[in-house]
Amino acid sequence: MAAADIVLTGAAVRTLDPSRPYADAVAVKDGLIVAVGGAADLREWQGPGTETVELAGATLVPGLTDAHSHPVWGLELASGTDLSAVTDLAALRVALRGAERREGWVLAWGLNHNAFGGREPHHALIEEALDGAPAFIRLYDGHSVLVSAAGLRAAGIHGPREFVQRASVVCDAEGRPTGHLIEHAAMDLMTRVLPRASFTERGARLLELLSGMAATGIASAHVMDLGGDALELLASVEETAELPVRLRLAPWCMPGAGDEELEWLIAVQREHGRDWRVGGVKLFMDGTVEGGTAWLEHADCHGTGTDAFWPDPAAYSAAVHRLHHAGVGTATHAIGDAAVRHVLDTVEALGARGAGAPVHRIEHIETAPDDQLGRFARLGVAASMQPPHTAYTRADHSDEWSKRLGPERAARAWRCRDLRDAGAVLALGSDWPIASYDARRVLATALAPRGAAAGHGGLTGLMALEGCTTHAALAAGESTTAGRIAVGYRADLTALGVDPVKAPADEIADAPVPLTISSGRITHRT
Ligand SMILES: [Zn+2]
Repeated sequence: MAAADIVLTGAAVRTLDPSRPYADAVAVKDGLIVAVGGAADLREWQGPGTETVELAGATLVPGLTDAHSHPVWGLELASGTDLSAVTDLAALRVALRGAERREGWVLAWGLNHNAFGGREPHHALIEEALDGAPAFIRLYDGHSVLVSAAGLRAAGIHGPREFVQRASVVCDAEGRPTGHLIEHAAMDLMTRVLPRASFTERGARLLELLSGMAATGIASAHVMDLGGDALELLASVEETAELPVRLRLAPWCMPGAGDEELEWLIAVQREHGRDWRVGGVKLFMDGTVEGGTAWLEHADCHGTGTDAFWPDPAAYSAAVHRLHHAGVGTATHAIGDAAVRHVLDTVEALGARGAGAPVHRIEHIETAPDDQLGRFARLGVAASMQPPHTAYTRADHSDEWSKRLGPERAARAWRCRDLRDAGAVLALGSDWPIASYDARRVLATALAPRGAAAGHGGLTGLMALEGCTTHAALAAGESTTAGRIAVGYRADLTALGVDPVKAPADEIADAPVPLTISSGRITHRT
């Protein structure tokens, strides 16, 4: 028998493999798990070239997956000054006054809508702090930006625009832009004038970012974007380095996509590198509650939120049908109740699907009514949710998200537990850079949801762990190759200083991460 590359001993192993839930040792070779058992059983795998890693006191679990992340696009989303700690206008002005300039621009991100204290975002609120500088400030949800007067001028934005997707250049009563640009097409008006990091710089930042993720136990990530030169960037990074986190990337299918674009989305599924591959297509059924662009069955308190992101929702359904019949799975961003319903209706209309059919999943699901919960399991639609987002809301419902929805819908915030109890597959993620990528924080907030979601029960420790392992694999159609510690499975492994199934949320959040292995490579150790 050939010797293993790595043998892990000393840890309590939680395999999540129903045929052998617990073990003491694991052997890894050529990127795969080759043996799972007692320490004595694995002695025969030890050879002269084998590295033995002693993990006394740790719990070894399948490598954690972040089922919704933006590490590549996020390099741009999260460029400039981090405003995530800003809670009011005064603090925003202080932060902008001290912000670093890049080619004269103030770039910032992570701003909470609550910082405006219920007012509409308007550049006039920040001009004095900017002293005439062009500024591009991303709101935390990634679905809108506030641009200063000089920034608007630089991009030639002087009034309202028409888009093929639900997007807008917000204007005042006189038709002058307020600087608030909502949704992708409107934000894209700025792209050509913004300063941008070089290709090499972005490659270096990607590696650094992925190393940071691996240090929190992340072995793989479902990346919900693949735009611009991302394919070239990944290929070029892999020429000289190994990715610390394996990536599965889903390019976007936006409203207005014609045959040619759909053909490209299907063809690009073949693209892959050593530790990345294209997998599935990302679509948007709506925007965000805070931005007034979530698609709701009934309007929010401002009278907005009754429109889908696809002006013709039937065109969305047609795109999903086309992708499905080409064997391509979809992941649809759907936050509002009407958006969730429409995606479920769309999958229902695909008819019966056999084993091996592409997996369709819904991202976010921030407020779901009772009558939709059981449909996930019945239709085989995976739910993908981000428990850390609950921290942007408040338990007393005084936050923008809760106020817009009103008490009845805010009471249905992030129903992770209800979906699991209704039999759904539930994958968990961070949505970095919308929230911290720390996998321990994803697990901890799944156990103990925050803000508006604090009222209902969290997941059990096992459900939360499954959300980052077996259920994440199911949501990616990879359940026969990933997500558990079993012979023949991908060697993705995470060692934690606590048992995530039994430890309380606060201990998980602070747990040491002695080791992370991705595709058989040690990507982090302490
Ligand atoms: Zn996202």
